[in-house]
Amino acid sequence: MELGVYEVVKWFELANEKIQQNKEYLTSLDQPIGDGDHGINMARGYQEAVNKLQANEYKEPSAVLKDASMALLSKIGGASGPLYGTAFLKMSMAVKGKKDLAIGDLAEGLEAAVEGLKQRGKSEVGEKTLIDVWEPVANYFSRDNFEPKGISEIARTAMEMTKETVATKGRAAYFKEKSIGHIDPGSASSYYIFQALADVIKEKE
Ligand code: ADP
Ligand code: MG
Repeated sequence: MELGVYEVVKWFELANEKIQQNKEYLTSLDQPIGDGDHGINMARGYQEAVNKLQANEYKEPSAVLKDASMALLSKIGGASGPLYGTAFLKMSMAVKGKKDLAIGDLAEGLEAAVEGLKQRGKSEVGEKTLIDVWEPVANYFSRDNFEPKGISEIARTAMEMTKETVATKGRAAYFKEKSIGHIDPGSASSYYIFQALADVIKEKE
């Protein structure tokens, strides 16, 4: 199984579909513990990324990831724009020069993305942010028992776990203990992104 330019573009297209379909839901998650714009931000950013990817031709996945990163960085806005922008830029750098991405390459790319997220967000896992989804998914790609059909489950469980924790980063941190009982909006958008990646990988198997 290897993902080339076509499949990486497909990843963004499928993620965009899921984000557009769940735009209202993502925004509703951001209402009780934020400012209610996450769905709007993500829908705008992902649509722009897909428009850009469809208008260009690419020689390798790294270039796709870089262009997507730039579009997300400039169009999502909020706290999550620079975070998603950084994640995909780091991933792009980690897989530079590769024509096709095997599971091990994706693992390296996702690991680099997680490092970038931690640096940019000055955060760690367990702070009720999208890192709570990115880190376990990145780790799963490196496991011996990795199976494409397991990705979605890992991401969903991680997203649901954010319901139990207190936010210590981002706007939700202002709500302190009151943030308990709510799913982190960024973790939910990340769940859609990894569901889309799982779909692309399964289709290629
Ligand atoms: P804003 O908070 O500026 O309105 P969004 O609503 O688009 O931006 O995004 C909020 C999401 O960004 C949160 O749900 C969380 O997952 C993520 N986030 C915010 N701050 C941080 C941070 N410091 N580190 C990691 N993720 C963060
Ligand atoms: Mg918000």
